[in-house]
Amino acid sequence: MSTRTEGVVSGIRYLKGVGPKRALALEKLGIHSLRDLLYFFPRRYEDRSRFKTIAELTVGETASVRGEVLKVNLRPLRGRASLLELAVGDETGVIYAVWFNQPYLKKYFSDGQKIILYGRIDFYENRIQVNSPEHEILEPEEESVHTGRITPVYPLTEGLFQRSLRAMLKEILDFHLAGAVQEYLPLSFRSEKNLMELREAIHEMHFPAAFEKQAEARRRLVFDEFLIFQFALFRKIETMRTRYKARAFSDTGHWIDVFKNSLPFTLTASQEQAIREISKDLAQTFPMNRLLQGDVGSGKTIVAAFSLLAAAKNNHQAALLVPTEILAEQHFRTLQNLLASFDLQIGLLSSSTPAAKRERILAELRQGKLQIIVGTHSLLEEDIQFGSLGLVVVDEQHKFGVYQRSRLLNADPRPHHLVMTATPIPRTLALTIYGDLSNSIMRELPAGRKPIKTFWITRQKQADVLKHLLEKMKEGTQAYFIFPVIEETEKSDLLAATKEYERLRKGIFAGIRMGLIHGRLAHEEKESVMRAFNRGEIQALIATSVIEVGINNPNADLMVIENAERFGLAQLHQMRGRIGRGVREAECFLFGEPKTVEGQKRLRILTKTQDGFVIAEEDLKLRGPGDFWGTRQSGEPLFKIADPLADQEILLEARQTAADLMRGEIFVPAEKSQIKNFLEQIPIRY
Ligand code: ADP
Ligand code: MG
Repeated sequence: MSTRTEGVVSGIRYLKGVGPKRALALEKLGIHSLRDLLYFFPRRYEDRSRFKTIAELTVGETASVRGEVLKVNLRPLRGRASLLELAVGDETGVIYAVWFNQPYLKKYFSDGQKIILYGRIDFYENRIQVNSPEHEILEPEEESVHTGRITPVYPLTEGLFQRSLRAMLKEILDFHLAGAVQEYLPLSFRSEKNLMELREAIHEMHFPAAFEKQAEARRRLVFDEFLIFQFALFRKIETMRTRYKARAFSDTGHWIDVFKNSLPFTLTASQEQAIREISKDLAQTFPMNRLLQGDVGSGKTIVAAFSLLAAAKNNHQAALLVPTEILAEQHFRTLQNLLASFDLQIGLLSSSTPAAKRERILAELRQGKLQIIVGTHSLLEEDIQFGSLGLVVVDEQHKFGVYQRSRLLNADPRPHHLVMTATPIPRTLALTIYGDLSNSIMRELPAGRKPIKTFWITRQKQADVLKHLLEKMKEGTQAYFIFPVIEETEKSDLLAATKEYERLRKGIFAGIRMGLIHGRLAHEEKESVMRAFNRGEIQALIATSVIEVGINNPNADLMVIENAERFGLAQLHQMRGRIGRGVREAECFLFGEPKTVEGQKRLRILTKTQDGFVIAEEDLKLRGPGDFWGTRQSGEPLFKIADPLADQEILLEARQTAADLMRGEIFVPAEKSQIKNFLEQIPIRY
């Protein structure tokens, strides 16, 4: 243990009632200092503030009563069991508190004590009784900690008890709060924003005088959390601008028109807008850090192609990172087509690139010969070097995982950085997850798209649907059939892709050209199946969720998702997004018999809307924000008490305050430096 931690831990140890053992238990909860303990807030509260008289008690309720100990009685029961009985009375009656097999409690009680009991009221053998109640013996005039108030209930760990935590906190709040925490927000600001004083807020969080006070206290502390977070983000952005250099792509000439004119369609207004925003960033001498959000099918690839081209036209290299091999190959082919009017060297690198070829690609990257490289995680490997890397684009970032610390992005000069995601997220979440990125949103789909008709199909209708699909395929449409697992296991009754492939091929789809694709296929097989499907040689593609990201075949307009209840809402939306990319009407059939209400809701939502933003909101409501944090570095939650969804308003206010602080507005210089000093001391976890 370093001397520093020793110091703070023993700081806790000097408290009344904290020995080495308890200090260790606190450590397990991540509490190393008095300050940590003060910021260790209750999980919930119990209202034990209102006392009832014994006569008012009703059986089954949980209540607090106050009375006097009339009699203490320890009765041996059969075997080694025992029963400790306390008769407690007030002016209206008598109640019995009982504890089984806790004879040691006897020594705490004696006749005549004033006592508070809290627990569930029972009626047993003709008397009012409360089983193992929480209790507190009142010293004359002493303020009550455990009962007779709104009582905090803390998250616990082994070796720690509610009572001892409460007592500890009471002690710290009474004697050490002033030394451990200082207010840093000026009074004028706090009164304008209606924010409770910091120490008072901490006190009210632990021992609220009333629930309204606790809410006010929470609001203040949520504001603090967001302010610290947003300030850290703004500082990061500022650092990016001032400390890091990027290669400015200043040539925005004729090639842009050549590119646009070479496309078989006109760009949507959203695409134009995104391209404008990106061009502006790329022309600057500090690195772009931009998020491009666009629903499935909104045409993000074109925007990526434009950005990659911009790098090449400015004599720098560009990399496109994607989460899967299938997608890498698809993008590689797409870019070759989209950029065919330009004489560009484009490469493809993945884990299945043969060694000799890989060597050649690496050499050409070093020499700057390859202008654009498409690749999977393989592009992050240590031995990869670029002659002049100007831009990194990451597609389907939500699937790609963590890469922000990779050498690729942290080179000097820094490459510009474009992040693309098809998972739209509500604004406040975006501000926290992607708070350090500028934002481009494409809300529009290319013109002429027909809505994807989506049906939820139960077992007895499925045969009819398959017949319908057979007819459609005979007319030339292609179809996806998606299954949750590759091979059937004995335990599971899920339909497995391989087995269904055989069954359909020998049965109803005899004569239809079918293909099978899943993650366990060898690389060449995957590639040849996808090629055949894209060329129309395969009509029915049996697949697992490997096709979830990015796959684009505008001639495929039919989709069946088997055991649809097994997939998440966002995932279903992404998979469905594979169809409806052409001009024909698309149909999606969700086969499923969800057993849970939530599962039924998911399928119903999909039949009703195709709007990714709506679906994301619904998804969030069903699942909570937990999964969205997945891409952050550590497993621990970003915030202790703040909830970016529920506390949207406070988040926006804190963000504004952080921005004002950065610009030096609102606050007088002395106040500003006071706040800044404080915020800058906080170690950044973000
Ligand atoms: P996503 O945003 O899901 O990555 P893609 O970039 O794969 O979408 O584009 C989906 C399909 O829409 C592709 O076939 C693409 O060629 C087509 N597309 C893109 N932009 C337009 C447009 N402006 N007009 C018509 N079709 C477009
Ligand atoms: Mg895409």
